[in-house]
Amino acid sequence: MPTLRKCTQCGEPTLAPFARKMEPYNSVYHYKCSNCQHEVELVPPASSGMQLSVGLMVAAAVWFIFFGDNMPKLSSLAIYLVVMAVVPGMALYKLWKHYSYGVVDNSASPADMEVDDTKKIPKSPIVWVEKRGLLGGFLVPVLLVIVVLGAAAILGYINYTYFDDKLFS
Ligand SMILES: [Zn+2]
Repeated sequence: MPTLRKCTQCGEPTLAPFARKMEPYNSVYHYKCSNCQHEVELVPPASSGMQLSVGLMVAAAVWFIFFGDNMPKLSSLAIYLVVMAVVPGMALYKLWKHYSYGVVDNSASPADMEVDDTKKIPKSPIVWVEKRGLLGGFLVPVLLVIVVLGAAAILGYINYTYFDDKLFS
């Protein structure tokens, strides 16, 4: 991730990262153009992917809870779409921003450049996820849900099969 990017302001391949900061749900790379001083904050695509899939899963869950099998009224549908579009919409915007500043091929700057703030960033699961790339970030929450549901199903099976449904009573 910390590598040279093409500046969208002056068009030169001189946008370099100078800091990485932690936000509640993702880290942010601060880039500055050494040619025109343009500054931009970019979120690793894995975190945007993670927020996209969490947003979509929450939207699906809310749909199921409020509407079930019934098609909602047009007014309810409109409110639902507006509210549920916020998180995925922001994730898509961050992704678009990230990819609009294209990485410079064979850039002179070393890709593994030490970023000042990295040492201050705790070893949070977010940082781990952010190493996985867009698809990895998107799949992590999905896998987490599958693991939790799978564990619940196995526990339920054991409870009914071996404990006659008395395991938790
Ligand atoms: Zn520039």
